[in-house]
Amino acid sequence: MSALLSLRDVSYAYHNLKGETPALSHISFDVPQGEFLAIVGPSGCGKSTLLSIIAGLLIPETGDLFYKDQPIARGNAGNIMKIGYMLQRDHLFEWRTIYQNVILGLELNRALTQENRDHVTQLLKDYDLYAFRDKKPSELSGGMRQRAALIRTMAIHPDLLLLDEPFSALDSQTRLNVSADIAHLIRSTGKTAVLITHDLSEAITLADRVLVLSRRPASVICEMPVRLNADRQDPMAVRNTAEYRLCFNHLWEVLTNEQTAVQPA
Ligand code: ADP
Ligand code: MG
Repeated sequence: MSALLSLRDVSYAYHNLKGETPALSHISFDVPQGEFLAIVGPSGCGKSTLLSIIAGLLIPETGDLFYKDQPIARGNAGNIMKIGYMLQRDHLFEWRTIYQNVILGLELNRALTQENRDHVTQLLKDYDLYAFRDKKPSELSGGMRQRAALIRTMAIHPDLLLLDEPFSALDSQTRLNVSADIAHLIRSTGKTAVLITHDLSEAITLADRVLVLSRRPASVICEMPVRLNADRQDPMAVRNTAEYRLCFNHLWEVLTNEQTAVQPA
């Protein structure tokens, strides 16, 4: 299967007055079309940096990116593929209604056609937010707000979804259900998604495959396919399977070894 996105030997360091901070070291992986990939790693290891590189917001110092096997010229990612980004905070504007919020990306891209408006209306119906379209974000629950943020992301017809710890601001119980709900909605569209999380359970429950990054500068230290014999929409059922426990124990061991490894001088 040809990959939608490939990274080959990507390295990156931040440079400022205090010197150099190496963030990514020789990262290579493929993301097949339609895959839901999770990337986990210690806090501060370079996860958000990696997403910024994929989104074309940062340019790798060395290494290459490919979209459907075609090299992505430096800084050209946004012109070659449409990227939807979801962040930790939902970034809904409080003074805009839900409808006005979800069409924001279309407005900014001057793409507010009748066809796109119809698409957004359909998404609002599919995601059970149609009745709330004239409400302000403050009138919605955390889960509904994340669904609104997802509609805003989906409205631009992204080829690739980048999710940077999008559930971290939710309390743990809400988080279980909201993350399963959002992942189900993404899967049902067949979109390719890369989810950054520091939560192992979340990675296993939601993703087809998990990549584990080392401490900074991040390199890929483990790659694990996740095959679960359970309905992923039911997070507790997933957690009660033997497959889940095997995956969790393995990832736990990899990350524990990484964290207790001797720090380079
Ligand atoms: P993560 O998302 O895994 O927590 P980041 O990718 O945000 O990590 O950051 C990786 C490392 O790079 C951190 O040590 C962070 O302090 C550093 N860093 C991030 N952004 C900058 C920047 N603009 N300038 C210098 N260092 C940065
Ligand atoms: Mg981060």
